[in-house]
Order: sequence, then structure tokens, then C-alpha cells
Amino acid sequence: MKKLTLIVLLFSVGLLYAQEPYKRTVKLMGSRFDITVVAKDPVEGDVYIDMAISEITRIEKLISSWDSNSQTSKINRNAGNKPVQVDIELFNLIQRGIGISKLTDGAFDISYASMDKIWKFDGSMTVMPSEDSIKASVAKVGYHNIILDKENHTVFLKLAGMKIGFGAIGKGFAADKAKELLKSKGVVAGIINASGDMNTWGKQPNGKEWKVGITNPMNKNKVFALLPIQNGAVVTSGNYEKFVSFNDVRYTHIIDPRSGYPATGIISVTVFAPKAELADALATSVFVMGIEVGLNRIKQLPQVECIIIDEKGNIITSKNIEIEKS
Ligand code: ADP
Ligand code: MG
Repeated sequence: MKKLTLIVLLFSVGLLYAQEPYKRTVKLMGSRFDITVVAKDPVEGDVYIDMAISEITRIEKLISSWDSNSQTSKINRNAGNKPVQVDIELFNLIQRGIGISKLTDGAFDISYASMDKIWKFDGSMTVMPSEDSIKASVAKVGYHNIILDKENHTVFLKLAGMKIGFGAIGKGFAADKAKELLKSKGVVAGIINASGDMNTWGKQPNGKEWKVGITNPMNKNKVFALLPIQNGAVVTSGNYEKFVSFNDVRYTHIIDPRSGYPATGIISVTVFAPKAELADALATSVFVMGIEVGLNRIKQLPQVECIIIDEKGNIITSKNIEIEKS
């Protein structure tokens, strides 16, 4: 009898502390987000997921360049005119964005947003744009012309027609913020998956690390590698379908903001970093920098690794990556 009571007691305690992953898919920032949290029951899981959603929505309102009420739109509207005071959070994001521009010699640039869209990747292009029009397309791009005033938290775009945008960093930033919030609320583990950009913390309830599948850009239905990640982010940049070819050169949809020419040679870049924002920014940057320079920069950063797939299908990795074939 005593033994049975003990078993029942242990079982109830077990139930009390049993943790399960709960997942919801939502559309945020124009993208699909899969939010997974480890919680004790579905009710608690829902509360946590709702928290993550409101945090991502809050960030979207701050950084969206489509929403004319956002602080980002206000900065863009006042380009060439006057500095705009913004929240410290946005100010710091812009400052970090400029930091990445410096790190990548301008391969990454949030002022890419003013580029004229002279390249089309939907099959409608028949001739290569002229050298002059390519050059002119980036006339308003240049992080040097984003002027920050730390004391007053103002941002000033020096040239009329300049624009900033967070297409290559925003999803990562929002995922980091949601993760940070949930951790502060005591959520022991989870995954914020922003359309394949993965940000994890903690472990699965069975004690194993979360595993992230990386799709093969040559065959999107196949996962070519399954990698464990613990408290970190994995972001992939690149879509092998979006490109155009002239004279046997394949031009991809990510454009070098310094020259106006699309990146060549690479079809996919996956970056591992402690934060999704950094991984997101670097994945886009490596695309633009190319294999050699890109790997070189990645090597200089602590806790950052990458996998590059070139247009011939070769897989090039930084030194600490071990691929577990699935
Ligand atoms: P996705 O978010 O589509 O997976 P990326 O993270 O590579 O892909 O981001 C691509 C987006 O980043 C583009 O759609 C554009 O908004 C923005 N972008 C493109 N080139 C640059 C660049 N050189 N620097 C900063 N942002 C860029
Ligand atoms: Mg990116």
C-alpha cells in the first residue's frame, strides 16, 4: 500500500513538472513564424506564445518601412531635410547595422533600400542593364551618410531620397527580442523560427539539443544536414530560383550595394552565431563578399561559423562545422 502511494505521489509530481514543447505558426513581418516553447501545459504554452507574438508585433511597428507611422518611415521621409528623434532600441539597431557595414566594408548596408530596382529575377529580363544605369542605381546608397547623434538619439539621412530598411536584419532582431523576453519570463527552452531563420535556447524536454535541418538549395525538398544548436541562431540566405544569367554568369537576387551588381558565385549561405540578428546580417553579407573574403571575415568573429554552397553545388564550411548527413 505504502509503495503504491509513493508511486502515485511520484507520478503526480512528475506530471506537475512534465514539460512539453508547444508550437504555433503565425504570419508576422510578412513572413511565416513558427514559435515553439517548452511549458507545463497548453494553457501556459499559449500564454508564452502570445507574449512572443506581441513582442514581434511591437518590433515590426518600430522598424517596418511599409508602415508610414513607423519611426523608420519618419527617418526616411526626412532624408536630406532634418534629423529624427527615435527610441533608443531603434537607434541602437541602426548603430549596430552601421557596425556591420564597417565590418564588411560596406557589403552590408541598411541604406541599400534606396537602390533603383533595375534587376529583375522573374525571368522578364532579356538584356543586361547598362554600366551607367547600374552605377546610377546606387547613387543614394552609403552608410557614411547615416548620421547618428548619441546624445539626442536622432538619425539623419544626409541625402534627399536616401532610405534605410531592415530586410536583412529585422527578422533576426525580432527573434532575438522575443527569445530574450521569454527567457526573462522563465521559459526554459524554445525555438523562434522566422521562415527558416532559427533561434533556440535551452534543450528539448528529453534532454537532447534542438536539431536544425538545413535545406539543400539544389533540392529544396531535401534536408542535407541536421545540426544541433544550443542557445544560438542559424540563418540561411539565398534562393536558388531567384537569379538571372547573362553570358554564362549567374546573377543572384542579393545585390552589392557598393557597385549595383548582383552577387555571383554563391547560391546559399548559412551562418551560425549567438544572436539571430548577427547571423541574419552576416548571411546576407557573405553572399555579397563572396567565398574567400566572406570566410575570412567569419573566421575573425568569435562563435560564428558558416556553410556556403557555391553555384556548382560545392559545400564550403568554416573550420568548426561538422555536418551530420541525414
Ligand atoms: P531573406 O530575408 O529573404 O531570407 P536575406 O536575409 O538575405 O534574405 O535578406 C535579403 C533582404 O535584405 C533583401 O530583400 C533586402 O531587403 C535586404 N538587402 C539586400 N541586400 C542588402 C545589403 N547588401 N545590405 C543590407 N540589406 C540588404
Ligand atoms: Mg539576412
